[in-house]
Amino acid sequence: MTVRTRIAPSPTGDPHVGTAYIALFNLCFARKHGGQFILRIEDTDQTRSATDSEQAIFDSLRWMGLEWDEGPDVGGDFGPYRQSERKHIYGQYAEQLIETGHAFRCYRSAEELDELRAGLKEQGINRALKPYDLELPKDEVAKREAANAPYVIRMNVPMEGKVEIDDMLRGVMELDWNLVDAQILLKSDGMPTYHLANVVDDHLMEITHVLRGEEWINSAPKHKLLYEYFGWEMPVLCHLPLLRNPDKSKLSKRKNPTSILYYQRMGYLPEALVNYLGRMGWSMPDEREKFSLAEMLEQFDIQRVSLGGPIFDVEKLSWLNGLWIREDFNTEQLADRLIDWALNRQNLLQVLPHAQQRMETLSDFAPLASFLASGTLPLNSDSFAGLKLDEEQLKQVLQFTLWRMEALRQWDRDAIFEELKTLATSMDIKLKDFLVPLFIAIAGTTASFSVMDSMVLLGPDMSRARIRHALNTACGEIGKKQLKKLEKAYSAL
Ligand code: GLU
Repeated sequence: MTVRTRIAPSPTGDPHVGTAYIALFNLCFARKHGGQFILRIEDTDQTRSATDSEQAIFDSLRWMGLEWDEGPDVGGDFGPYRQSERKHIYGQYAEQLIETGHAFRCYRSAEELDELRAGLKEQGINRALKPYDLELPKDEVAKREAANAPYVIRMNVPMEGKVEIDDMLRGVMELDWNLVDAQILLKSDGMPTYHLANVVDDHLMEITHVLRGEEWINSAPKHKLLYEYFGWEMPVLCHLPLLRNPDKSKLSKRKNPTSILYYQRMGYLPEALVNYLGRMGWSMPDEREKFSLAEMLEQFDIQRVSLGGPIFDVEKLSWLNGLWIREDFNTEQLADRLIDWALNRQNLLQVLPHAQQRMETLSDFAPLASFLASGTLPLNSDSFAGLKLDEEQLKQVLQFTLWRMEALRQWDRDAIFEELKTLATSMDIKLKDFLVPLFIAIAGTTASFSVMDSMVLLGPDMSRARIRHALNTACGEIGKKQLKKLEKAYSAL
């Protein structure tokens, strides 16, 4: 048997360090066993998927040296590797399950589903919706069918009992059928859900080992059942521990930058980032902290993964990055890295249109643009002196902007401007006064070019990190009570 592993990211938003982490372990496992590592794009949710986001996944994984053997951009014998190009495949599998009695058409409307759930709750029944709950009288089904009412295809699931899931790291886990719903497999628009597409593709692509984040454990019973229904052998499962913030919560962009692009822009080296991700729950046999991807590949053993939630600590990463910079590069090599990183023609061409009008001499350029090549800006409370806003307003402007920017999908000048303008209007603050603290947060000074342009150049994670830093500098850490108050004012806007 040839070992075949895969990562299956959905191209939404910026490429996540968690994706690189899972990719690294899949790559190591495949290489260790002389197998192949595949990249599949799970973009069946067309409203959320974006091509730039897919490209950013390719670019950032490659930047880290995590190369795949088969994938949408490199081809392979099991393609296409983008689920949106495989749409025609899934329907027949859903139909096959209907024919074998393992799935059914469900004509229930959204309102009916709400009612059914409320009904269970009222009766104090704590379980997922089951085929039994969803069933409609035969004549009602016929009526809806005749009226061409929309339907979904759902899988049959047991009412109760236990299911055993075997995991390479966790051994046999027992889960409860009680909490597993009659999962939708095919949506009313004919598109598959994650569960159907994922199982069908893993099978057709001959994936032998599924190494993924532990957040997918609860999906495993459905997947196991689908493999049984189809009569296919299930890949071996391995749920890796989730990366965590220093406060042990799940790594999320609300607390920490999670985008690989942020770490790239901060000037971390790909070698150090891969090294650090390799330390997440895994260790070298001699426990050394600094190692290259090649060394990790050579020594890899999945059983050395420990399950305690690994903490992704940016300070530790910086320390490791410093070791790499000082120990592994001569000045020639470091000069090349700096040129690649920021001091290149392409970057200059992006920045100059904004800077040129403000320049009298070439030496004006560095002070104008240095904030773009900086990490965290050296702000202090004096940086915010003389604003036309009181302290509460300042806090609100920064926090509300942060929330808006966290929710913003499309990161371009117009979209950012629209958000800021709407926010300023609803807070009854003049746009000019509203933007001043953001200038300081993003560029360190108001004497800079448009804050929207700067945010586009810095990217979402770096922009958010700077606003968060400004908020903490100007107003101190926001406590729980304060946060509640802010949330209330925000939802009242
Ligand atoms: N598309 C899923 C994701 O976004 C894949 C999960 C899996 O590996 O099964 O992570």
